[in-house]
Amino acid sequence: SSAEAVVSITGLCRRFGSKTALQEVSLYVPRGGVFGLVGANGAGKTTLIKHILGLLRAESGSVRVFDVDPVADPVGVLGRIGYLSEQPDLPGWMRVDELMRYTQAFYPKWDMAYAEKLREQFGLDPAARLKTLSKGQQAKAGLLAAQAHRPDLLLLDEPSSGLDPIVRRDILEAVIHTVADEGRTVFFSSHLLEEIERVSDHIAMLHEGKLVMCGSLDEIKLQHRCFILRFPTT
Ligand code: ATP
Repeated sequence: SSAEAVVSITGLCRRFGSKTALQEVSLYVPRGGVFGLVGANGAGKTTLIKHILGLLRAESGSVRVFDVDPVADPVGVLGRIGYLSEQPDLPGWMRVDELMRYTQAFYPKWDMAYAEKLREQFGLDPAARLKTLSKGQQAKAGLLAAQAHRPDLLLLDEPSSGLDPIVRRDILEAVIHTVADEGRTVFFSSHLLEEIERVSDHIAMLHEGKLVMCGSLDEIKLQHRCFILRFPTT
């Protein structure tokens, strides 16, 4: 039922000039588990995520996050979301522990004991300056900052982009599943089908602004009569 939907989108359209970025997209993210949004570059993933964050107003159609319009109530919605963008802009001059104290100020529900636990789990030195960390460690610092307020929805835009396979696996398996095991919801995007397929309970595929498949992995394989997912060939 829609009462259990963390995100519920119906008939969402978005154009940028003559370019159609999203065309009649309807999708429903159930509470709990990992929802994977897959699509090639330019498919419309970031545009969709901006609507969930309430940064873009629906041109037509509707977007509800926790049953609320995120444009009308950004504070209510964003307080319950943890967000990590594709290229997190971390302040390189800050130390890891400083980032933790700084980010805490933005979130009333920040849990410093949980932040410390994540920091240890990720193997981050509290005294290290962010700009001296490897790309993988920076991604982990970004993830720590995005989720130490225990958001109901952790929204990650291509979290593994540009990382080596080991860090990618670390992030996807350790981080994403921990959140899902706590009964919270992870929504992440990727252009890598095998990654989406490996960790997602539910999957949506965007292709040139249109939703071409959506459902649980088993439903999708049954519907499309395939054993592995593929992008459309057009
Ligand atoms: P990527 O993996 O490259 O981030 P994406 O799936 O996130 O791709 P979007 O960034 O949502 O794709 O872009 C979808 C389409 O809309 C692209 O053709 C893009 O050029 C266009 N687009 C997105 N934002 C704007 C904007 N502000 N102005 C004009 N065109 C835009």
